[in-house]
Amino acid sequence: MTTAPATGESEQDNVEQTDVLVVGAGMAGLCAAIAACHAGASVIVLEKAPKAERGGNTRFSNGAIRAVYHGVEDIDALVGGLSASERERSEFGSYSREQYYDDLARVTQYRSHPDMADMLVENSRETLFWLQQQGMRFLPLYEWQFKLPDGRIRFSGGSALEVYGAGEGASEALFRAAERSGARVLYQTKALSLIDEAGRITGVIARKDGADIVIRAQRVVLACGGFEANVEWRTRYIGPSWDLAKVRGSRFNTGDGLRIALDRGAMPFGNWSGCHSASWDLNAPDVNELEFGAVFKRDDYLEGIVVNADGERFFDEGADIRALTYAKLGRAILAQPGQVAWQIFDKHGAARLHGEYRVKQSARYRADTIGALVAQLEGMKREACLATVKSFNAAVRTDIPYDPGKKDGRCTQALAIPKSNWALAIAEPPFEAYAVTCGITFTFGGLRVDADCCVLDEGGQRIKGLLAAGEMVGGLFYFNYPGGSGLMSAAVFGRIAGRSAAEAVLADAS
Ligand SMILES: Cc1cc2nc3c(=O)[nH]c(=O)nc-3n(C[C@H](O)[C@H](O)[C@H](O)COP(=O)(O)OP(=O)(O)OC[C@H]3O[C@@H](n4cnc5c(N)ncnc54)[C@H](O)[C@@H]3O)c2cc1C
Repeated sequence: MTTAPATGESEQDNVEQTDVLVVGAGMAGLCAAIAACHAGASVIVLEKAPKAERGGNTRFSNGAIRAVYHGVEDIDALVGGLSASERERSEFGSYSREQYYDDLARVTQYRSHPDMADMLVENSRETLFWLQQQGMRFLPLYEWQFKLPDGRIRFSGGSALEVYGAGEGASEALFRAAERSGARVLYQTKALSLIDEAGRITGVIARKDGADIVIRAQRVVLACGGFEANVEWRTRYIGPSWDLAKVRGSRFNTGDGLRIALDRGAMPFGNWSGCHSASWDLNAPDVNELEFGAVFKRDDYLEGIVVNADGERFFDEGADIRALTYAKLGRAILAQPGQVAWQIFDKHGAARLHGEYRVKQSARYRADTIGALVAQLEGMKREACLATVKSFNAAVRTDIPYDPGKKDGRCTQALAIPKSNWALAIAEPPFEAYAVTCGITFTFGGLRVDADCCVLDEGGQRIKGLLAAGEMVGGLFYFNYPGGSGLMSAAVFGRIAGRSAAEAVLADAS
């Protein structure tokens, strides 16, 4: 609830004062903090997590980042000099504004709001260079690209770079830059409500060490993530069974900022029943922990088939490249009986799996015959599963060459659910299966912001003094998402929010 400041606050020790207050210390919050400092404002950042767990989903992320780039020159500049062998083995291509718009529009079923899409796409390249200036380092992202017969890699466009050190690296670089810029971070400090004085947001009430504190600010930037770690909100907004999804990232993203803003009359915007959710190991804990990092990621479904407990396939594993399909797969798995599915590979598919499939936590099964493999899968309708494998194998168009160097069109024929590319029979022993479930990454529903990231109220008017960025911004992603856009949008919107907050403070002062 919007709250007035505690009476007699000026006599209290627990009152802080700043130009710009940022709530949340992930990519969006820290970019906002850095940009606001650079524009000449004093900045305090509130982080709900203790210092050891700081950094939100940003820190859990894999660090893939999607931006417009103009070819090898951009990649060279962004990684700080490609080696001769990197140049030799890579076809980087380019990723135009038009391609980014196309990918975003297509995977969101043309629902991404043009204003939001514009802000993301048009600022992506420049923001990447800005992140580099802040000390973030990048590497070519060799995973998930097309593999040519001569061993070279053809970049499939979009996410051509990853942050050095993945989420940990991104988070470290951002905290260092924020502190260097003069921002002060208050850990284990949870924003509870906004201070609203005569229709203007003038700060936040927060809880620190069990006591409420007042932080007065001329502008407040909310950047405290979505509601993915809030089991009740997930069920309320995304729907039945979403209480059963496993959380892939931070346990601190429980929708606090959204609640605080909605209580003040902010306009809800975007796909509140939608989220990013991926295939996740069945053995993963209900909520991820930093020590596990990415070990539960199960994104190699392109290399085999995926079946449910009825023994049936339920989606097209080869519909498109991984970056454009993986973020809707969690939802598809959650809709299956028992919220479980199995990825099944033969020897050749298994040989192409990423390292995380081999970790000791993996819900992994192995056998020399497909019958013996399927017999191990608890709850599986075995005969149906064996029939599915058989009919899948028979349906593979062997007349079309398999080619991991492109979308090869090697599909199945006459199956109710096709595999549209990279279809190979599950034929050669040994066989492997991996039990997977739905892992939720982040929620798509958020707030309506304008071009300065100012939060709009239900009447479409700015809520004076209030801005938002990152996962809290609605209207960008619907149903699905192009991989690498989470970090990019957090950086783009965070930077805009921080800069416009600081400029507004300075304008007020002049
Ligand atoms: C496992 C995983 C892998 C991912 N991989 C990628 C990837 O490779 N590429 C990509 O683009 N995206 C990826 N993402 C998505 C990406 O991490 C997010 O979209 C992005 O980091 C969001 O940034 P943010 O700043 O909005 O939120 P966050 O980074 O989650 O930051 C939110 C912050 O708010 C704090 N907070 C919450 N409530 C409060 C409160 N009441 N008071 C104070 N602070 C509060 C949290 O503690 C946290 O510090 C991945 C996510 C996960 C979970």
